[in-house]
Amino acid sequence: MTDVPGIFAENVFNEQTMRKKLDEHTYTAFREAIETGNPLDVAVANTVADAMKDWAIEKGCTHYTHWFQPMTGVTAEKHDSFLTPAQSGKVIMEFSGKELIKGEPDASSFPSGGIRATFEARGYTAWDPTSYAFVKGNTLCIPTAFMAYTGDVLDKKTPLLRSMDRINHEAVRILRLFGREDVTRVDATVGPEQEYFLIDRRLFDRRKDLKYTGRTLFGARPPKGQQMDDHYFGAIKDRVADFMAELDEELWKLGVYAKTEHNEVAPAQHELAPVFTTVNIAADHNQLTMELMKRIAQKHHMACLLHEKPFKGVNGSGKHNNWSLSSNTGENLLKPGKKPEENTQFLLFLAAVIKGVDEYQDLLRLSVATAGNDHRLGGDEAPPAIISMFLGDDLEAVVDAIVKKEDYESQGKVMIETGAESLPAIRKDTTDRNRTSPFAFTGNKFEFRSLGSSLNISCPNMILNTIVADELKSFADELESKKNVEAAARRLIRKTFKEHKRIIFNGDGYADEWEAEAQKRKLLNLRSTPEALATYTDEKNVALFERNHVLTKKEIEARQEILLENYIKIINLEALTMLDMAKKDIFPAVSKYTAALASAVTSKKAVSPAVRTDAEEKLLEKLSSLLCAFSDKIDELEGELPEAKEYKDDVLGSARFYCDTVFDTMEELRAISDEMEMSTDAKFWPYPSYGELLFSVH
Ligand code: ADP
Ligand code: MG
Repeated sequence: MTDVPGIFAENVFNEQTMRKKLDEHTYTAFREAIETGNPLDVAVANTVADAMKDWAIEKGCTHYTHWFQPMTGVTAEKHDSFLTPAQSGKVIMEFSGKELIKGEPDASSFPSGGIRATFEARGYTAWDPTSYAFVKGNTLCIPTAFMAYTGDVLDKKTPLLRSMDRINHEAVRILRLFGREDVTRVDATVGPEQEYFLIDRRLFDRRKDLKYTGRTLFGARPPKGQQMDDHYFGAIKDRVADFMAELDEELWKLGVYAKTEHNEVAPAQHELAPVFTTVNIAADHNQLTMELMKRIAQKHHMACLLHEKPFKGVNGSGKHNNWSLSSNTGENLLKPGKKPEENTQFLLFLAAVIKGVDEYQDLLRLSVATAGNDHRLGGDEAPPAIISMFLGDDLEAVVDAIVKKEDYESQGKVMIETGAESLPAIRKDTTDRNRTSPFAFTGNKFEFRSLGSSLNISCPNMILNTIVADELKSFADELESKKNVEAAARRLIRKTFKEHKRIIFNGDGYADEWEAEAQKRKLLNLRSTPEALATYTDEKNVALFERNHVLTKKEIEARQEILLENYIKIINLEALTMLDMAKKDIFPAVSKYTAALASAVTSKKAVSPAVRTDAEEKLLEKLSSLLCAFSDKIDELEGELPEAKEYKDDVLGSARFYCDTVFDTMEELRAISDEMEMSTDAKFWPYPSYGELLFSVH
């Protein structure tokens, strides 16, 4: 049995470790610097760095790294050893305060969207002391922010930290209005539920598409998919259970609150949910979780797929981002309480979220826009590309009643009678689950469900924090001058609900009628990544980020360019991989099989002309004409790729071309291949089938 409390956070330089390893003076000075946000004194920084190094060496470390999250979407590390030459050819292990606080990695190989001129390759990493340093393998990892020499932000962490300051400031202002002098800090809290697939490593290695792009670019549907609904919450297989046990243990050692593990809807699909924590830490932890999933899967001879849609026709993977606001006194500001209709403070926060989501649907949509996620949004498995909110019947009735100036008494919790005496009655949450809503209120938090499984959660949370902070600011500005705050707040709440009610939708988000209804309500429907990203630089959005000092116009433009380029690179790589597979493996395989069919016909006929060969001939004819169509499509796709180059600096134009033209041709090429796969002898087919991949782990 694993001693969970014993190993928990043993690889983290957290409060407990600091108390043990730092002297009283240093510890107090360090805590003070974090709480006030003032820079650390050099002497204190040196002492902290030294203690950190000694602790890391005890854990077997020889190196340290500034661990950061550039715009590539993965985390980056550059390892330096503690080794320092000393007298008479000896070495000592050293780590200074300066090395702890600031790093200077060469920034030229990270995307910068034109911010960093190529002659100025320098970039800086700066320690985020609110996220603890930790040990991974032989390396002490220091969570850092990453910026250009000019000070322009090049990473995902810095804007998130800025947005946290904003929401803290404005939420505290609102609480003051309600006489809450005890609260000094408000944090956004997040619990991201992570979905993933596990497949057998040997089969993974035989699929170029999975290896190069993370998803299958070809593959006919297996006879058994998820239609039996027997995987969801089903018993966990031994090999997967071993993987999960090791993953949990490694995460616990890193102080990650891994809590729930279960099977998901699709075969070979699973989920891990941690207990929620402060958003910047949740983001770091989620990055670590994804990294460990991949590494530990490999140890267990499996491959962990974090792609949003590894298999066509099978549910893809998402990441539910549970978000709330929590005070330093432990109060969840999105908890409605027994009587939400009378809880003005709660209703005011709710109104801020409703208004923010309505006014910045485009930003929320683009925060989850990636090539991989385009396969999910709008399918029958993930929330649609239209952003709307679900409040549950009870809370929606409260909102309705306020708008109509009617009385409504919230039902609070209702009991479900189980009907068997031995079973207790269960209290039912009135915010029942609506799986089809992109943004659902789930009792005391909002669940943003549109995120793709591989996404770094920093961007959606940076945007959520910023839009809500901005709305709270305008509320506080308006209310602070009022004598009767309660009455003024009630009027403001009613006005906000009335004006932004259109964003609330409690029905089936997957239904076609919703698309028509959403259009009537003038809600946005940004179907693809290029369409969504185009809105990043809209005037109202730039104004929002600049007014809140979260991103400058220049930084937004850089981000937009990086994300569009990223989209282009992904589709381009997928297209090239498809062409490689099509020409080198699939075409030759089908050609050989048709040749085998043809010789079967000839040799049968040679035995006796009376022997029937119409079955072979029919199949031969079918496959031969499919093969011709396949060859034509290959040519078409090959012709389109150079066309994309004509867009030169017009990144958006190029991204649109990939989306509207290249991607469609890829889909058509795939369709022909999948049809051929269904009629080709499995022995001839060059890749493991969907059936083998999905049911490979026992
Ligand atoms: P499900 O949505 O699958 O029913 P749960 O209700 O257990 O799952 O919660 C899902 C996630 O929401 C967990 O990661 C949990 O820690 C997180 N969560 C719960 N309360 C909060 C909160 N106040 N703030 C942020 N996340 C929260
Ligand atoms: Mg959930």
